[in-house]
Amino acid sequence: MKKRIAILGSTGSIGTQSLEVISQNPDLFEVEVITANNNIDLLIQQAKKHQPNVVVIANEAKYQAVSEALKNEPIKIFAGIDALNQVVQMDTVDLVITGMVGYSGLIPTYHAVKAGKNIALANKETLVVAGEIITKMALEKQVEILPVDSEHSAIFQCLTGEFMNPVEKIYLTCSGGPFRGKSEEELQNVSVEDALKHPKWNMGAKISIDSATLMNKGFEMIEAHWLFGLPASKIDVIVHPESIIHSIVQFEDGSMKAQMGLPDMKLPIQYALGFPYRIKNNFPRFNFLNCSTLTFELPNTKKFRNLALAFEALEMGGNMPCMLNAANEVVVEAFLNRKVGFLQMPELIEKAMQKVAFVKKPELDDLIQTNTETRRITELLIENRK
Ligand code: MG
Repeated sequence: MKKRIAILGSTGSIGTQSLEVISQNPDLFEVEVITANNNIDLLIQQAKKHQPNVVVIANEAKYQAVSEALKNEPIKIFAGIDALNQVVQMDTVDLVITGMVGYSGLIPTYHAVKAGKNIALANKETLVVAGEIITKMALEKQVEILPVDSEHSAIFQCLTGEFMNPVEKIYLTCSGGPFRGKSEEELQNVSVEDALKHPKWNMGAKISIDSATLMNKGFEMIEAHWLFGLPASKIDVIVHPESIIHSIVQFEDGSMKAQMGLPDMKLPIQYALGFPYRIKNNFPRFNFLNCSTLTFELPNTKKFRNLALAFEALEMGGNMPCMLNAANEVVVEAFLNRKVGFLQMPELIEKAMQKVAFVKKPELDDLIQTNTETRRITELLIENRK
């Protein structure tokens, strides 16, 4: 039986690479649903090539154009956010890949889990914002949340076969991003273009900026906390610029397992889709002679304050990580639009986190409200600083 797959965010970096993995393994997988926000040219092209049953364009204004372009194909076309929340529940979907950007991933993922669908989780913001609600429901519904994030895939791979053995600590590795080692003065004036140039991974704009500020690693700590049930004190971040070791698990006997390989997102995507089986492929292999030294250093949380803010948010719990995420989405967009500088991003996030009402045990509705309120406050903070 082929696994029938829904890809949320099929035109993004995770989505396009997922389609590559699927088309390389036509005996194992088939595309059931693809969805996109706005990029209709690529969505239409993907639909013609992969022949899914259903296509969703989230932006309703673009429905007509998609529908016209695909009128001779046997494909159902829907538009709007509600359609996203519905297609993930279809009987013909076995696994949902969540490849959309930011907070927008939360509600469709919530509906998918609620409907009992296994998740290949690439949208880490879902767990940053609502980790408790999502993981609890996944347990109740016996849904597997398979990490696609390379670090979490690494940990998941290291833990396979170790379920009886408690973890002493995990080390999330971090490339350090494009600005590793830069001085505070240099960071003051870095440009959007520089921030988008990640040394090791080729990703979308939002996650590239998050990698440059180390917010991405902060989010990954929170993601690891929920995926693996570990307190913040057992999660360390270690900078490893070569990005060959994708993360490390240390057990109670001091033994450490690391997962290694070339940095290529297709590998964790393929592992999540094929789990529990590894699928043979011909991706390039790591050669020790091309990289004879692997180096490690501590992250600098004074220069990259987002990492410290994320740690605080995780310790505080409640709706604090939701605030962290919402404020971050607003400042990243402002940075991309050249409205705020690189070092202003953590300042603004910290202020926003102080201004929104704290809720210790938030329900989904509280989180939706926190998201809206934090975005509003962060936007005001940006305007008022001029
Ligand atoms: Mg990652």
